[in-house]
Amino acid sequence: MDEPTVYGALGKSIAQVYTIEFQKSGLSHAHILIVLRAADKFSTSEQTDKFVRAEIPSSIENLRLHGIVTKCLMHGPCGIDNPGAPCMEAGQCKKMFPKEFRTETTMNVSVYPLYRRCPSDTTFVRGREMDNRFVVPYNPYMLLKYDAPINVEVCTSLSAVKYIYKYIYKGFDCANMVLSAGQVQYNEIENYIDARYVSAPEAMWRFLGSHMHDRSRAVMRLPVHLPN
Ligand SMILES: [Zn+2]
Repeated sequence: MDEPTVYGALGKSIAQVYTIEFQKSGLSHAHILIVLRAADKFSTSEQTDKFVRAEIPSSIENLRLHGIVTKCLMHGPCGIDNPGAPCMEAGQCKKMFPKEFRTETTMNVSVYPLYRRCPSDTTFVRGREMDNRFVVPYNPYMLLKYDAPINVEVCTSLSAVKYIYKYIYKGFDCANMVLSAGQVQYNEIENYIDARYVSAPEAMWRFLGSHMHDRSRAVMRLPVHLPN
């Protein structure tokens, strides 16, 4: 099992930004973007393999890690096995699962790396037979430490960084629902006020004054043209 580096689980962080989102189930969910110092940046597939995996670990080599991955980091079932899954849109999984099998990790300049997913034995997860094509990428050390669904991705390209920022600032999920026997009176202001739903964990989070987001660096736009 890979140990964390002397600076932390992934390397030395020089900047970070995070936001807390409350999911429809009411539970908190953090999106964290970490910028590593130049020496620790993941530029090769070997470095990526060391810290980020997308395969079901062997139950013989590490039974505990195998249990956590099969419990917390298997996507689906979706697709033809479960067309009503929340990730399904127009008959396709929005998260593009199942991924393709590949025998080695390929660094991808435009999006996330294509992680190694060797064809392997299948495992039964939530009553379905699943293989490495359904594994959500993870860091073994963090899973063993926190025993929680922690998805870790390598963002080497600018577009991936932009995507993460969009995720961080996308705001809350909302739904408008009306139960009516007669004609619906549409009141935009009332709908806006009524649509906000705060779960018990989110209410506690706010009562306790916990942060909803934070960043290690303030970004300042420097003037290109100074006066005169
Ligand atoms: Zn899916």
